[in-house]
Amino acid sequence: MHELSIAMSIVEIAAEYAEKDNSDKVLEIEIEVGELSGIVVEALDFAMDAAVKNTICENAKWMISIVEARAKCSSTGKTYKVQSLYSPCPFCKKFGHELIAGKELRVRSILVE
Ligand SMILES: [Zn+2]
Repeated sequence: MHELSIAMSIVEIAAEYAEKDNSDKVLEIEIEVGELSGIVVEALDFAMDAAVKNTICENAKWMISIVEARAKCSSTGKTYKVQSLYSPCPFCKKFGHELIAGKELRVRSILVE
């Protein structure tokens, strides 16, 4: 299960952060998941439940927010919300864009005691 290994690395990141801060308790973890990251939020949520067991994140709350996919047109330089990776630019109707958001998976913030 892909999401479980992701959840475990998130817990690891949070634990390391707490350690550096001389804390032994993580209170909150904010996670950002891009729409096109291929990660299923419900599965990640479920995996987090398992990953925090017996760690200093055990009593932490976590929030998972979804980042919308955005692209920048390579002809006009305009940015727009991506409906699908294969749809053209809504302004000039050309294909060819650079994805600027939507594939991320990151820990946005960690709160420790
Ligand atoms: Zn365009």
